[in-house]
Amino acid sequence: MTTHAPRFVLFEPTHPGNVGAAARAIKTMGFHDLALVNPVGHPDPEARARSSGALDVLESARVAGTLADALDGCGFIVGASARHRRLGMPELDPRECAAEVLRACAARPAAIVFGPERAGLTNDELDLCQALVYIPANPAYSSLNLAAAVQLIAWELRAAQGVVLDTPPPESPPAGVEDMDLFYEHLERVLLASGFLDTGNPRNLMRRLRRLFNRSRLDQNELNILRGILTSLAPGSGRRDWTGPP
Ligand code: SAH
Repeated sequence: MTTHAPRFVLFEPTHPGNVGAAARAIKTMGFHDLALVNPVGHPDPEARARSSGALDVLESARVAGTLADALDGCGFIVGASARHRRLGMPELDPRECAAEVLRACAARPAAIVFGPERAGLTNDELDLCQALVYIPANPAYSSLNLAAAVQLIAWELRAAQGVVLDTPPPESPPAGVEDMDLFYEHLERVLLASGFLDTGNPRNLMRRLRRLFNRSRLDQNELNILRGILTSLAPGSGRRDWTGPP
């Protein structure tokens, strides 16, 4: 049994009709956790109409001002992209995405983030993601309507239920998005202090490091080790050991 429901996050959707249709798509597949980041024109009668019998999902959607807030409490985060991207992130198909998301939901809610209708997700949003999901559509015309993309991803999640739910939860839960953020801040401070990160010539270093660590999907224990290492590197800390988890 999953202990958490997957979260569907719509980042800056611009058409209320799509938001309503996405709420309906989620509910038809048995899910309910919808989050909206800066939705244009919310609430809106068009969204209500398109949600049809899924008004409960629409009305209980959490509305956030930043993607990080919408992802509050989440562990595994996947960005849905309408095209292949060369970003050094693992790219999943919808079936693999469903299996991974449900597995991760055993420990914390996992989220799938969908981009705005016109432009899709930018690097700033993808900085918070650990993998991409791409629906392998017509290569010459691969961009689905936002709610249609939500529907397909939600269907795969429904189909995967029962197949992956027997997996035992991991020994240490995946690190949460808030802890990862603190880690990146800590890492940046240490790299600045050591001079390795040169503000005059940052060479995208922090973004590259985020991609590297996001890809490895750290658990809480591993993150504690890394934080401990960073602390031990602070001049005068005198701490060189790691004694393992309590
Ligand atoms: N023009 C944008 C597409 C926006 S479609 C672009 O080229 O990126 C709105 C959102 O629906 C996308 O950001 C993505 O989250 C989702 N989506 C659309 N088609 C998809 C596909 N083939 N695979 C995965 N997600 C898709």
